[in-house]
Parts: sequence; structure tokens; C-alpha cells
Amino acid sequence: MSYAKNAGHRHQNPQPIAKDYMQEALIEAQKAGKRGEVPIGAVLVHQGAILARAGNRTIELHDPSAHAEILVIREACQKLQSQRLPDCDLYVTLEPCPMCAAAISFARIRRLYFGAADIKGGAVENGPCLYHQPICHHAPEVYSGFRESQCAHILRDFFKQRRGESGT
Ligand SMILES: [Zn+2]
Repeated sequence: MSYAKNAGHRHQNPQPIAKDYMQEALIEAQKAGKRGEVPIGAVLVHQGAILARAGNRTIELHDPSAHAEILVIREACQKLQSQRLPDCDLYVTLEPCPMCAAAISFARIRRLYFGAADIKGGAVENGPCLYHQPICHHAPEVYSGFRESQCAHILRDFFKQRRGESGT
């Protein structure tokens, strides 16, 4: 069975295993939140094994590009000694932003699974819909809505708590 003709489109036929990898991404999101970072987590899966896992570290690394997706792509590329990851699938708790969506395309990642949609900042099914633009030379297969409520909940909690702390 081939999914290639549907590349870049939304799929609604989740494989059961995907939920488990999204659970691992959620663990990374929680860890990021405990570090004071925006709680978004990602895992990169290669041949059924987690090759890299990360949460956001933009504050800790003084690096606005240190999003979870970028960190797992960098680590996986180092491990595989390759600038491309064509046999890899990326799981992330929130719809990727334009920077990460582009990096996923450049890395030739096979499948992208994300949890919650990001209506304001997402670039896959919202905003620029990058994979449907002519500038995009590789679109991963996109599967969305995995553990959606959990992924959204952890972000909502984080921002609610932060607003509370700043007294606004
Ligand atoms: Zn990003």
C-alpha cells in the first residue's frame, strides 16, 4: 500500500504505535515545561527505534532555533552521519512552526505526526501551509491529532501558570 500520492495531506488512519511515540514526545514536553521552556516535545523514530528525543531548549541554549524538532533533527543527523533522514518519522506534540516545517522538508523526513494544531503559529495545516507551496520540494506524509487534547492541555496549563506568576 502506498501513501505517496497523498504526501502532504492530512491522514486520519493512525497506526496504534503512533500513540506510543507521541506519549514519548509528551514526556519530553513535560520535561521542557519543568525547565521553564515552552512545553513542546519531539521524538525522531528510525526503523522502529527512537533515535533522538528532545524538548524545547531556546532559553537554556540562548538559541531561538532550539525548538524540539530542530534538536531531534540535528541529533539524528549526527547519529546517522547524514544531512537527510528519509527513513525517519518525526513525532511532535504541536504543529510545527515555519522554521521547523522547513527543516523537516529539508531533512526529507518521511512522516510527520503532530499532536495539537497551532492555529496562530503552525505552518503545516495552518498559516503558510508550507507543504502545499511551490517552494516546497519535499513534503512528508502528515498525520495529525495524536493525543491532541493532552498535547494542547500541557501548553494551556503552562501559559495559564505563567500568566498567574507574572500577575497579569
Ligand atoms: Zn519550530
